[in-house]
Amino acid sequence: MAINVTLIPGDGIGPEVVESAVLAIEAAGARLEWQRAAAGAGAVTTHGTPIPAETLESIRRNKLALKGPLATPIGEGFRSVNVALRKEFDLYANVRPARSFAGVDTRYSNIDLVVIRENTQGMYSGVEHFVDEERSAAESISIITRKGSERVVEYAFNFAKTRGRRKVTLVHKANILKATSGLFLEAGRSVAAKHPEIQFGEIIVDNCAMQLVKNPQQFDVLVTTNLFGDILSDLTSGLIGGLGLTAGANIGKDAAIFEAVHGTAPDIAGKGIANPTAVMLAGVQLLEHIGERTAADRLVTAIREAIASKEALTGDLGGSATTRMFTQSVLKRLK
Ligand code: ATP
Repeated sequence: MAINVTLIPGDGIGPEVVESAVLAIEAAGARLEWQRAAAGAGAVTTHGTPIPAETLESIRRNKLALKGPLATPIGEGFRSVNVALRKEFDLYANVRPARSFAGVDTRYSNIDLVVIRENTQGMYSGVEHFVDEERSAAESISIITRKGSERVVEYAFNFAKTRGRRKVTLVHKANILKATSGLFLEAGRSVAAKHPEIQFGEIIVDNCAMQLVKNPQQFDVLVTTNLFGDILSDLTSGLIGGLGLTAGANIGKDAAIFEAVHGTAPDIAGKGIANPTAVMLAGVQLLEHIGERTAADRLVTAIREAIASKEALTGDLGGSATTRMFTQSVLKRLK
């Protein structure tokens, strides 16, 4: 039976790269039924709101969504449409794999790690304000709960187990932030004790940043709080060639949304030259999430081989191919 997935093309280059990803996911042999839904700036024009009720309904029903980048319209009452979706579905784990690509020139050629970031708490709890009318000072409250910490670390261990990974490293700053980061570390240790078959490590975030630059191969799965994860996951994307090659999954108990990490790229939107790799890789994450291992492996292999062959690279990777040409290069490897 086909699995229903909500498909949100999104704004800017979104529709172009999402269509390519759909072709590639289908060619990989996955049996998915796409239900298209609107969100972002485009949805304001068509539905009068950046997050139409029917889109939320579709995600709630299907529990799975693949989405392109969304622009947040100014003055719609949202800080970010992406953040609003994460909140609505309590998508507590943000999962960003970073694996080197043959054919993409970077400092290291053999990186294979995953950053799992707590997605709902910490410095991004949204509780901040200026303390006086002159705006001479501001304060922000970082909220960390034991339950919120345990569930994301538990997710990291289960992820490691089901993906054949060896080690989970918890990244913290408990030496200074003794209450918030200390609680995350303590909760993480208690979860780690239940998973003795997976190695557990702890590292302070500043040292982690340095180690990621000096010797990234020592890491496997990293799990951390919201702000540290936001920064470190961009660092790890940089290690493998940048945001254009990076996908992210937002996982909750009742729904999961898979997306490219890059934005709407208004400078190249509509030109047919965007690189669809990141959304295709989001498709790989979706397939792994629903247990379609064979299709996921076929798809990721085809993407990697297409890039390594350099026969149709897009402008961001130094080539001159169109989105369609790169997509064809992937599709022919899936025949
Ligand atoms: P937003 O406001 O939506 O974040 P942005 O332009 O600030 O948009 P990105 O969309 O991430 O941020 O784009 C940053 C740069 O990277 C732009 O020059 C854009 O053209 C380029 N870029 C982003 N994604 C891609 C892609 N998939 N293919 C090619 N170039 C891309």
